[in-house]
Amino acid sequence: MSTSDRRRFLRHSAGLGALAATGLLAGCQKAADCGPATDANGSREVIHWKMVTTWPLNFPGLGTGANDLAERITRMSGGRLVVKVYGAGELVPAFETFDAVSSGTAQLGHSSAYYWKGKVEEAQFFSTVPFGMTGQEMNAWLYHGGGLELWRETYAPFGLIPFPAGNTGVQMAGWFNRPIRSVEDLQGLKMRIPGLGGEVLKKLGGTPVNLPGAELFTALQTGSLDATEWVGPYNDLAFGLHKAARYYYYPGWHEPGTTLELIVNREAFNALPEDLQAIVESAAMASNNFMLSEFYARNPRALQTLMKEHGVTPEPLPQDVLRALRQAAGEVVEELAARNPRAGAIYQAYKGFMDESRAWVAISDRAYLRARDAE
Ligand code: CA
Repeated sequence: MSTSDRRRFLRHSAGLGALAATGLLAGCQKAADCGPATDANGSREVIHWKMVTTWPLNFPGLGTGANDLAERITRMSGGRLVVKVYGAGELVPAFETFDAVSSGTAQLGHSSAYYWKGKVEEAQFFSTVPFGMTGQEMNAWLYHGGGLELWRETYAPFGLIPFPAGNTGVQMAGWFNRPIRSVEDLQGLKMRIPGLGGEVLKKLGGTPVNLPGAELFTALQTGSLDATEWVGPYNDLAFGLHKAARYYYYPGWHEPGTTLELIVNREAFNALPEDLQAIVESAAMASNNFMLSEFYARNPRALQTLMKEHGVTPEPLPQDVLRALRQAAGEVVEELAARNPRAGAIYQAYKGFMDESRAWVAISDRAYLRARDAE
């Protein structure tokens, strides 16, 4: 074997090794099937993509999750597909992420589907549903229960392909400037709470507002909001929300396991060789799992910091408040399903999967956790 043959062989083996390690060999058995790593002249073609996000650049958990995903794509592709991340407001404002990727201003977006309810309200099922599925259940539905196919159909008219790309796990109910002791305390409450959760609050007499994360602290501190939810201890501590409001309630009935999304401009995606398409898909899947794990690792530590260093005492929402919220949540989702046939079809699929899961989780996770943590 000549030196140049040997070099080519090693390069080829290393390439296949990297693909095998990431489980991408299915459908890409020969290097030739995977698209050329070099062009006809032997020079590398490097593709540069932009990723816009709804998060402040480098914001812990969400912004760093977007960074993680961009780095994975860049690394897994051996630098053939280089992704640059833009924080909210850098290239486009936070809530223009969807349109920017749809129009091709950016090829990628990192966000969550409930932010697009003004355009496509049935998308909210792919983010989170009040009193709906947990992060683990969402992943089960999306990957193995037909959820992702429904999501792709929902985004197809916008020229977008969605991938699950992160999950926060169960969130906190949020920070409040006044105590919530009864359902009446929700009357007139001006609260930042996105998606279906906001509609639930409205049904019980509150005023839901949607604001990007970066504006929450000031809005709460100046009293233009009475309450805000954000995510959980890890992210809430990063924004310093404990300095702006006194009461911290749980559980996050409105966001029991919010799926974050990678949206890809379809035209740009279809122009990629098959191996780079598989890399985008696999990087999103890795990032999805990595972020959920990160929240389960960092929330407990941040909770300790909030309690021990900042004197925060999280309180449970009263049972009758949770019951009223659950009742209102059922009505909100049923009304959405009734007025929008596409939402109705997605809701049926979502509910069917959740009902099956409920019976299993009752005798697995729930029974186990009760046994493990019993006094
Ligand atoms: Ca939230």
